[in-house]
Amino acid sequence: MCVVFFDYRYGSFDWLEYSLKTSAAYCMACRIFAVTTSYLTRPSSRGGHFAPDPAFTTRGFKTWNRALETFKKHEESVAHRHAVHDFQQFLTKKPVLHQVNELAAQQEKAHASQVEQNRNVMRRLFSITRLLGRLCLPFRGHVEQDSSGNKGTFVEFVIFLANHGDSVLKHHLEFAPKNAHYLSPATQNELISLLGDAVQTEIIREVKEAGFFTILMDETLDFAGVDQVIFLIRYISPNSHEGQATIQERVVALATLIEGKTGEELEELLLNTLENLGLDLYCVVGQCYDGGGNLAGCYKGVQARILARNALALYTHCYAHSLNRVLVNSVNHQQIVEARNFFSAFEHMIVFIGRSGPRQAYFLKVQDEATTEVQVQDQEVDEIRVEEEEDVQNQPSTSTQTKKKRAPKTQ
Ligand SMILES: [Zn+2]
Repeated sequence: MCVVFFDYRYGSFDWLEYSLKTSAAYCMACRIFAVTTSYLTRPSSRGGHFAPDPAFTTRGFKTWNRALETFKKHEESVAHRHAVHDFQQFLTKKPVLHQVNELAAQQEKAHASQVEQNRNVMRRLFSITRLLGRLCLPFRGHVEQDSSGNKGTFVEFVIFLANHGDSVLKHHLEFAPKNAHYLSPATQNELISLLGDAVQTEIIREVKEAGFFTILMDETLDFAGVDQVIFLIRYISPNSHEGQATIQERVVALATLIEGKTGEELEELLLNTLENLGLDLYCVVGQCYDGGGNLAGCYKGVQARILARNALALYTHCYAHSLNRVLVNSVNHQQIVEARNFFSAFEHMIVFIGRSGPRQAYFLKVQDEATTEVQVQDQEVDEIRVEEEEDVQNQPSTSTQTKKKRAPKTQ
């Protein structure tokens, strides 16, 4: 292995390099570009002027007591000057193949242009994927044939941009091969998955940097009646905001529960998820679930099983879930009559208004008038406040005078 030479005494010899392996110095130009063919290096031809000095190419230079003198002599040698010339030619000139074959150069240029075009297309497709994801918009349409009026948000977005000045996408839609449009459902899923992986990787990087974290897990039936389990991680973000550490709570995985959901099965699912994410169970300092027996149970629940593996992973009953239980129970409680009556009347009012179109229209009209009235009053108060501030600024000498307070106008 050679390294660039750094000793200030030899700084002017920019071709000099040093090998840690052989503990010797070499000339980079001569080592790579010196002419070594027998015709040029034979002593009989040109007196061996082109023959490289083996001390700078193969053997290595070690006689440091005569270093400066030898380096200067080598720098002036014909062999070295030719090697440096060839080195510079190599850096600045086109490859030999291009010099002799212009067609190959053109083909390579066309290839490079195609690569750039493909990258530009992929950048746009990733940007659209990211935008739709951020806005929580569905990607697919019900009918995605060419004749369909709605081919799905993703495809329609691409077509819209192509028709409104994006020459890259326009060219892509017109000339890309049928099997490389990158608009198919499979490609859309792949784009989402790749972006998801990138986001997940970044979150896991932050979690690892934070050191310790809390796990949150909950399961529920989705729209199709399938049991889904969600995993979240709560940690202190290493990217503090204005010197304040910020707490992050991120979704890191979603799993479909195919088998049962006993404490043992959910524990296995949790451990597998942590392993897949590359997170260490011994960095868990908290667990948070709802009060279900399979999760919160003190003997066979997930929390007890995880606690047996890691005594630091303390369990907390989810605060949001607790609050929800408190509200539901207090509203339903027989002895808190006021709360029951309030929410009962509220519910009846929603049903009474919502079931009739004219009643709903009348309610919206009254609500709109009330909102407008409040807005007008707020605006008048703001105007009076501005006027008063201006008065104070314009009359600094009369600041001791009693300020006249004006009440908001009434309608
Ligand atoms: Zn040299």
